[in-house]
Formats: sequence, C-alpha cells, structure tokens
Amino acid sequence: MSWDILVVGGGVMGWSVAHHLARAGRRRILVVDRGGGSTERATGGFRAQFATEVNVRLSLLSRRKLETLQEETGVDPGFLPAGYLFLAGEEAQRERLATALEVQRAAGCEDARLVTPEEIGRLAPWIRAEGILAGSFSPRDGFMRPMEIRRGYLEAALRAGVDRLEAEVLGFEQAAAGGLRVRTSAGTHVAGVVVNAAGAWAGKVGAMAGIDVPVTPLRRQVAVTAPTDALPASMPMLIFPDGFHLRVRDGRVLLLWPSDAADDAFDVSVDPDWTRAVVAAARARVPALAAVPVESTYAGLYEMSPDEHALLGPAPGLEQLFLVNGSSGHGVMHAPALGQLAAEMLTGRAPALDVQALRPARFAEGRPNPTRRLL
Ligand SMILES: Cc1cc2nc3c(=O)[nH]c(=O)nc-3n(C[C@H](O)[C@H](O)[C@H](O)COP(=O)(O)OP(=O)(O)OC[C@H]3O[C@@H](n4cnc5c(N)ncnc54)[C@H](O)[C@@H]3O)c2cc1C
Repeated sequence: MSWDILVVGGGVMGWSVAHHLARAGRRRILVVDRGGGSTERATGGFRAQFATEVNVRLSLLSRRKLETLQEETGVDPGFLPAGYLFLAGEEAQRERLATALEVQRAAGCEDARLVTPEEIGRLAPWIRAEGILAGSFSPRDGFMRPMEIRRGYLEAALRAGVDRLEAEVLGFEQAAAGGLRVRTSAGTHVAGVVVNAAGAWAGKVGAMAGIDVPVTPLRRQVAVTAPTDALPASMPMLIFPDGFHLRVRDGRVLLLWPSDAADDAFDVSVDPDWTRAVVAAARARVPALAAVPVESTYAGLYEMSPDEHALLGPAPGLEQLFLVNGSSGHGVMHAPALGQLAAEMLTGRAPALDVQALRPARFAEGRPNPTRRLL
C-alpha cells in the first residue's frame, strides 16, 4: 500500500505526530508499531525546570497543550501540578540551579525559585535534610499520565482516519516515485515520508536506512513500594543531589536512581544490587519509608542523544526520513510540543517555536547544544 506519511513507532511520540498531522488536514497516514516501548514505563514526571532555553520552551508549549488535551482529544492527561523540588548538596550545584533559573526566566518561565533549607523543611518535611544547602522549586511542575496522553492522541488520530499496523519495520529502500519502500513483518508499504519516532530504537531504524541517527538506549530502573499512606499524593517530585528521586503514584512510592549502563544497552532486567541500594537510600533519607516494603521493580529505556536534546527535522542525507526522537528521558513531557512542531514542519508551516537547536545536522556540524543538567 502507499501512504503520504508512515510513522515508525507507536509510543506517545509517534501518536502525537500522527494526531497533529491529521489535525492539520494530512491524510493517508500509517503508524507502524511492534509494541513494548518506553512510554508505558515512564513515571509521569513533568517539568519546565531545565537548563537550556529550548527545553524550557518545549515544556511551556507542552504544558499549554496538556491543559487543553481533554478538549483536543477527549482524554484527560491527569496533569497534577504537585511541584518539583531539586536539592543541592554543594555550592556548585546551588550555582547550577541559580544559572538554570536565569535560563528559565530568559525563556519566559517565572515559575521556579531558589529555596533555603528552612523552606525545604516546609516543602518536604518528610526528608532528612542534613547536607542540603538550597533547592530549586516550581509549584507548576508535577505529574501526568503517559499512557493516557498516548491514548488521547491515538484515539483522536484513529477517529481522523489514521491507520495503524502492528508489525516490525525491517528495512527501507528508495522507491521509484521518490519516497521510501518500507519492508515490515506484515508486508511492504511505500511512503512519501517516513517519520522515525522509534524512541530508544531510533538509531537502529536509522541504520536500516543507512543513516546515522545518534540515539542510544540507557536503562532506567524503578522500584515500586507496596501501597502506603506514608507520603501524601500531593508530595512534589523530590530530587536529591546524587540523582536519587521519588514520587507518589496511585498510593505507592516510586524510587529511582540513575545507574551505570547495562553491558547490553537494550537490557531491561533489574540489577538486585541496584534494588538493595535504592531501598537503603530511600530509608536513610525518608524516615517514613523505613517500614514500607518494595513490592516490585522494573526497568525501561531512555532514548539518549549525545547532547541530551531531541532531534527534530529531516535526517541529513535522506530528506524522506524525518526524525522526532532523542528526547533523552523527557519524551513524554515533550511529546505534545514535538508532535505539533513536527506536523507544522511536515506540512510546510512555520513551527510555533524556534527549533534550530534541535536540527539533526548539529552533530555532523560539530555544533551540539551544551549538555546542561540541573544538578
Ligand atoms: C523508567 C523510566 C521513567 C521515565 N520517566 C519519564 C518521565 O517522568 N517523564 C518523561 O517525559 N519521560 C520519562 N521517560 C522517558 C519516556 O518514557 C520516553 O522519552 C518516551 O516514552 C519516548 O516516547 P517514544 O514514543 O519516542 O518512544 P516509545 O514509547 O519507546 O515508542 C517507540 C515505539 O517504537 C517501536 N519500534 C521501535 N523500532 C521499531 C521497528 N523497527 N518497527 C516497529 N516498531 C518499532 C517500539 O517498539 C516502541 O513501541 C521515562 C523512561 C523510563 C524508562
């Protein structure tokens, strides 16, 4: 069959792109997905506290879209502005938070502020705050429901006539008419443009077309406690200076702590040593969790780009391949914005934001974005 646009990947990103294309009047769109992506494993954090302007602007656009997602798609994204509190343990971290606040203000976001240890005591009375020098808190950051956002875009796209295929994309060839021939486990399709929204597998999909898409997987492990009322549902996301963080979701506490990459980058098994360490960290830092058992663990994959910013635009060297990937662990929160921007670009309209910083060619040009983290 032949399509105007074929989207590889039916996670939140692929369906956001498909929905926004259909909304812009494009027809003959197919989403091909084999399942098992990262969206269903995301913990649902949303923040505008970033350290680069483009990421702050993506968050602000996404937030406006989350606030109206129900009207747009019929599905409530469960947006809960419970806040995000980053905790600095060293002067250098406090300075990084302060610099990031300047970046946020320059990008038009006044939400966050530096907070003192006394204020941290009021915002997060549940933690042992020894060694915490300062923090950065935004009451407008918070939580959302990743699979509801995906469902909203998917259902709206299907209503608008988008087609879907449960299959694996296996390879690409140039098609006679100028598009790409797409080989899948369920037949061959031809498309004018292929959108690579394959998340952590975007590099593999690029390689099938002979294109270097510099996106690599990074395992993220999560420990989930038994049901508990030890911490309130309204607790902000708490991020400690070494990256350990926790949130409350549906009456359980989710514990996360970045760890080294697994030997096999696509491995999503959980390391028992990691589980022991994260439980010990939680109990040491949050006394109320001392008697709360961890009931399950799981892992999923971030889709890392070299500068930890998304890739948005045609692939250098293959105009028919359009990239929307590499969000580096922020792909749910930025999917509403990136889906809209991708659709604007693919329909020849000016994107609502300046997306120069996200052009895929920046790596080959040797001009990546600065990799700035908050802590
Ligand atoms: C533990 C964890 C916590 C996270 N927490 C957050 C958070 O709090 N906030 C946030 O914004 N983000 C978070 N993320 C990141 C987030 O999950 C991703 O950024 C986001 O889901 C990316 O969406 P996607 O649609 O691009 O990718 P995915 O959801 O992975 O979808 C890509 C799809 O493409 C399919 N695919 C790949 N190759 C092929 C092929 N050859 N043929 C057919 N289909 C293919 C995959 O199977 C998959 O279904 C978290 C991730 C993890 C693992």
